[in-house]
Amino acid sequence: MGFNTSLIHGAPGGDRHTGATLTPIYQVSAFAYDSAEKLEQVFSGRAPGFAYTRIGNPTVDAFEKRIADLEGGVGAVACASGMAAVTMTLLTMLRSGDEVVAGAGLFGGTIDLFGDLEALGIKIRYADRVDPETVESLITDRTRAVFAELISNPKLTVVDVEAVSKVCHERGVPLIIDSTTATPYLARPLALGADIVVHSGSKYINGGGNSLSGIIVDGGTFRFDPERYPGLSEYKKFGPRAFLAKLRNGIWRNSGACLSPFNAYMDQVGIETLGLRMERLCSNALALAKALQELGLEVRYPALPDDPDYPLVERQLGGKGGAILTVRAGSRERAFRLINSLKYALIATNIGDVRTLVIHPASTIYLHSTPEQRESAGVFDDTIRISIGIEDPEDLIEDLRQAYFESGKEN
Ligand SMILES: *Cc1c(COP(=O)(O)O)cnc(C)c1O
Repeated sequence: MGFNTSLIHGAPGGDRHTGATLTPIYQVSAFAYDSAEKLEQVFSGRAPGFAYTRIGNPTVDAFEKRIADLEGGVGAVACASGMAAVTMTLLTMLRSGDEVVAGAGLFGGTIDLFGDLEALGIKIRYADRVDPETVESLITDRTRAVFAELISNPKLTVVDVEAVSKVCHERGVPLIIDSTTATPYLARPLALGADIVVHSGSKYINGGGNSLSGIIVDGGTFRFDPERYPGLSEYKKFGPRAFLAKLRNGIWRNSGACLSPFNAYMDQVGIETLGLRMERLCSNALALAKALQELGLEVRYPALPDDPDYPLVERQLGGKGGAILTVRAGSRERAFRLINSLKYALIATNIGDVRTLVIHPASTIYLHSTPEQRESAGVFDDTIRISIGIEDPEDLIEDLRQAYFESGKEN
């Protein structure tokens, strides 16, 4: 099956009782049974079925199956947001005293979360670059996970998943990849060697900027050693599903990180056009990146042939660079003027929408970060991040050109 076919037919959902082509929205809190015995069986997992939407829901289940199929995992767990997915993944495997090696140029919210984890006694060691040598040098006896974004947002560096996963596995540590910005359209990290993939479904999976969600997919490949991961020892009997079993029966259910059925439905609709959208988004982004370069601006976009990660983009991402680019306007003031002169791009803090969105990261997402954190995230005072939409490329290019010249006038 090709990618677009698998989006429709890989794990199709629907409803066999009515013939509904999509799994309907089961907008209920609880599921009732004929007898106390039956509910007991469902509760204990001895009979299939749903009991309470925080623990499981048919609409959410259909969405989870679709993403697990797309990523090639043994299963998936949906969460209320991408941040919930990152949090639940880490808290399922970590305890106080453990260490995580993480890429420095991560999504701002993830960096903030790592600050919270440090307060719980979990140490984060940041890698300037997520390459095998740097990761290797930061792994200690206490490291229990390596966390990286496949294409980091907003730094836009690309991780060589195959090479980094080898180092992780030699040291007995799982590699967790946040693949939000790459999406399964550009790469399937589990097939490249990653152990767990997380997404903010709020972005490209949903695609229309209309619902928050997160999703965790387990490849089932990593064996959690009971001595190094004592919390997982009682789940060993689940074999390749040990991590998912602990996740579902533990912190995910207990903290109430579940996804709403309505949002799962919106994602289910969105995911079907992921291939079409990504194809257009990537070609629009490349055209825009080139047009900005022609204006003499410093542009970061991984699929530009002069980008340092371009060889990796060719080898690992099929030559496509995703839908985010950053550009340096020369000064903070010019960056603001340029943003304000755009006709089509909305000034908003999101990515992965059908609409083009623009933001000045230093004064928004990175407002509370230290200068070092900003620099390692590739965020400078004059950096503008553009999340490309599906508009016609000629319109987007023309708009950027006029905004650039307009922004230069007051200099
Ligand atoms: C947006 C984003 C998140 C967080 O997702 P939410 O759905 O906003 O909680 C995590 N990682 C990356 C790379 C993101 O872009």
